[in-house]
Amino acid sequence: MKTLPDYFQSRLANILDSIRQIVEIESPSRDAAASRTVVDWLVREAEKISTNLEIERIAVEGCGEHLIIRAYRSNEKPILLLGHTDTVHPIGAKSKNPTRVEGDKFFGGGVFDMKANCVLMLEILRAFGELNIKPRRPITILLSCDEEIGSPTGRALVEREAADCEFCLVLEPSADGRVKTGRKGTANYVLKARGVPAHAGLEPEKGASAILEIARQIEKIHSLNNLDKGTTVNVCTVEGGTTTNVIPEHAACSIDVRFTSMAEAENIESAIRNLQSYDSKVSIEVSGGINRSPLERTESVVNLYEKARIIAGELCFRLGETRVGGASDGNFVAALGVPVLDGLGVAGGGAHTLEEFIYINDLPRRAALSAAMILAD
Ligand SMILES: [Zn+2]
Repeated sequence: MKTLPDYFQSRLANILDSIRQIVEIESPSRDAAASRTVVDWLVREAEKISTNLEIERIAVEGCGEHLIIRAYRSNEKPILLLGHTDTVHPIGAKSKNPTRVEGDKFFGGGVFDMKANCVLMLEILRAFGELNIKPRRPITILLSCDEEIGSPTGRALVEREAADCEFCLVLEPSADGRVKTGRKGTANYVLKARGVPAHAGLEPEKGASAILEIARQIEKIHSLNNLDKGTTVNVCTVEGGTTTNVIPEHAACSIDVRFTSMAEAENIESAIRNLQSYDSKVSIEVSGGINRSPLERTESVVNLYEKARIIAGELCFRLGETRVGGASDGNFVAALGVPVLDGLGVAGGGAHTLEEFIYINDLPRRAALSAAMILAD
């Protein structure tokens, strides 16, 4: 157990250099060219580690490339290391959060969520090679390119790879160093209203306002919140109208829903689908639906967490757990009943903001933890 943290500590300068390189290749979701560039970089780095890796690139038009790296292939069920290469930061955002070290913090867009952890996955393979350690099980690394937008194309791959794995380690960001043993599920809807346009000064009585209709619906939608059950329902964007003197014909809002059980998700879904217009001259229409089911704190999740907690103790740090409202591809894995532990990534903060950073001193032990989880099986 001593060897792994010492190994990663000895490589810290190289690891930081790799993290700097991958962070500086900006790769927002839906930017296919940027995605290709970051995958090119990962493939080059993987090939430097070993020529025995099986590398598969899955290009999706207009989206980017998913990357699968397989090592130690055998008849045993593999361990799946899951992550993503896309970030929420548009091209150019790096000028507002340049890669830099300040004290123990390493700043950069997407470094915490989750490019540093993409590097750690490769470093784990490098460690096994250089330390002559052969894991008992094959390792599959899956890095998708559309996680930040709900995995419209990555989901099928995640489910395919997860379906026959022994267990799955998700190297998404930790929460102040804690792993995530519960994640809410998510649903997204758009509510559109179509009213009757009219001149706001000459004959407003002939109109029917789509904006007024949406405003009334928002009150109703927000009444679906139930904090005791952990259910949140929020209208997060609104738009409507054409100009300042016309009764608006169109309006729409988007609805973000989070839940801790599928039963609750179905209740909210049916309430939203059954919304009726207040004004009979305005028609309303709902689109969207349930995206990710919740990652529930099942026995198999707790078992993996317990294993990780004990290993962390041997590595001289305390590994806490928490439940969060944000979903990840770990939710898809959990829905298959496959043991999964999420949030194994390095500690840091500022996810999805221009203050994103990781703690440098957490890198070696965090890499050692995931590596030891693979070996402990
Ligand atoms: Zn993420």
